[in-house]
Amino acid sequence: MSTDFDHIVIGAGISGLGAAHFSARRGLSTLVLEASDRIGGCINSQTFPALGGFWTEAGGHTCFNSYGNLLSILDDLGLTTQVQPKLRVGYRLWKDGRRRFILSAIHPFEALGSLPRLVKEPKEGRSVRDYYSAVLGRRNYRDLLQHAFQAVICQPADDYPAEALFRRKPRRKDVIKAFTFADGLSAIPNALVAQGTFEVRTGQRIEQIATEGEGFKVRLQDGTAIRSAHLTLAVPPDVAAMLIPAVFARARALVAGIGMAEIETLVLVFRQDALNLPPLAGLIAVEDAFYSAVSRDFLPDAQYRGFAFHFRPGVLDPESQVRCACQALGVTPDRIAAQSRVHNRLPALRQGHFRLVEQLDAALAGTRLALTGNWFLGVSMEDALTRSHSEHVRLFGART
Ligand SMILES: Cc1cc2nc3c(=O)[nH]c(=O)nc-3n(C[C@H](O)[C@H](O)[C@H](O)COP(=O)(O)OP(=O)(O)OC[C@H]3O[C@@H](n4cnc5c(N)ncnc54)[C@H](O)[C@@H]3O)c2cc1C
Repeated sequence: MSTDFDHIVIGAGISGLGAAHFSARRGLSTLVLEASDRIGGCINSQTFPALGGFWTEAGGHTCFNSYGNLLSILDDLGLTTQVQPKLRVGYRLWKDGRRRFILSAIHPFEALGSLPRLVKEPKEGRSVRDYYSAVLGRRNYRDLLQHAFQAVICQPADDYPAEALFRRKPRRKDVIKAFTFADGLSAIPNALVAQGTFEVRTGQRIEQIATEGEGFKVRLQDGTAIRSAHLTLAVPPDVAAMLIPAVFARARALVAGIGMAEIETLVLVFRQDALNLPPLAGLIAVEDAFYSAVSRDFLPDAQYRGFAFHFRPGVLDPESQVRCACQALGVTPDRIAAQSRVHNRLPALRQGHFRLVEQLDAALAGTRLALTGNWFLGVSMEDALTRSHSEHVRLFGART
C-alpha cells in the first residue's frame, strides 16, 4: 500500500503533539490533524492583545519538575532554560459567600489520628472518597478534600479512582519545582509546532477512519482521503470511540464506556486597581456553581489580574456566571477589563479504569493503532505524555 505519511496523529493537544514530536524525531513523516483552529487543546493561554498581550490560563496552568517526559521535550526544544518560577500564593475556600482560609476547614485531630493509615492503606482499586476518607478522616474529606479534588479535576471527585490523582514521580533537581513560561503554557505547543519537524493541519474535524491493508485511510473534511502506515488517536474517549476503525471492535467497545466531564470556563481580567483582593492562587468552591477559580497571580503583571472560573455545566446562564464570579472576587461586573469563554472537557474516570486500560492494551497489541490522551494514567500533562511515549515505543520500538 502506498501511504502519504508514516504516521498520522489525530488531535493537537499535548498528547498528540508529543506523539508527533516523538515520531518526527525518528525521521518518520508525521501529520497532525486538529479539529479546532487552535493547537494545544486543554493548554490554552488566553491572550488579550487589547490589554498589551496580558494572558491568563483557561486550562492547564502549572508544570512540575516531576514531569520527566515533558522536561525531555522541553530539552529538545531548548525551552528548559526559559521556565519561569511561579510565585507561591495560596488558595482560599469560597464557602457560603465568603472567602476563607484553607485551615478553617481542617479537623486537625481527626487528620492526626488518621495519618498513620497514609502508609498502610492501599490506593489501588479505591475511589477518591473511600481512600482519602480513610487516610485523612471522613470530616476532613467532607469539608475540605472533596472540594479540593473537585477543584483539580473540575468535576465531582467522589467516584474518581484514587490512583489517577497525584502519582509520585522522580523530580529533576536542576529545574524549579513548579513553573510556567513568560507567555504562559501555550509556549509549549507553539514551540513544538514551530520546529517544523511535522506538519499540522487545523480546522480538520475527523469523523471517519478506515483500515487499508495494515495501514489507515483518514477522510478529511473536504472528502479527500490521506493514508498512513501508523495512526495515533489523541482525542477524548468519546471521539476515539467514534474514530476507531470498525475492525478494532473490542477496543472501540471498551473506550465507549469512558465518560467525559464538561466544564464552562469563564476568563475575567481586571485592572490591578479594580480589585481589593490579596494575591491568591485561586478559589476552591464549596458547593457552588463553579468548582474552582485559578488566578494569574503566580506571575504578577504590573497592570492586570486574570482569573479563570471553571463552572459546572448547565447551572448558570452566562450573565449569572459573570455575577457569581465577580461576587467571589468582591468586584462589580462593570470593572471587567476583558473576558472570554472556553469549553473545557476532561475525562470522568471511574473505578475499574485501570483494568479497562489493561484490556484495551491487550486489544491493541500487535496493531499499528495507538491510543493516547489524558484518560489512561491520569489527567495531568505528564500522565498524557507518559502514555504518548509508551504508545510510541509500542508502535515504533525503543530508541537505541
Ligand atoms: C481547567 C484545567 C486545568 C488544568 N490544569 C492542569 C495543570 O495545572 N497541570 C497539568 O499537568 N494538567 C492540567 N490540566 C490537565 C491537562 O491540561 C490536560 O489533561 C491535557 O492538556 C490534555 O491533553 P490531551 O492532548 O490529552 O487532550 P486535549 O488537550 O483535550 O486535546 C485533544 C485535542 O483533540 C482535538 N479533537 C477532538 N476531536 C477531534 C476530531 N474529531 N478531529 C480532530 N481533532 C479532534 C481537540 O480539539 C483537542 O485539541 C488541566 C486541565 C483543565 C481543563
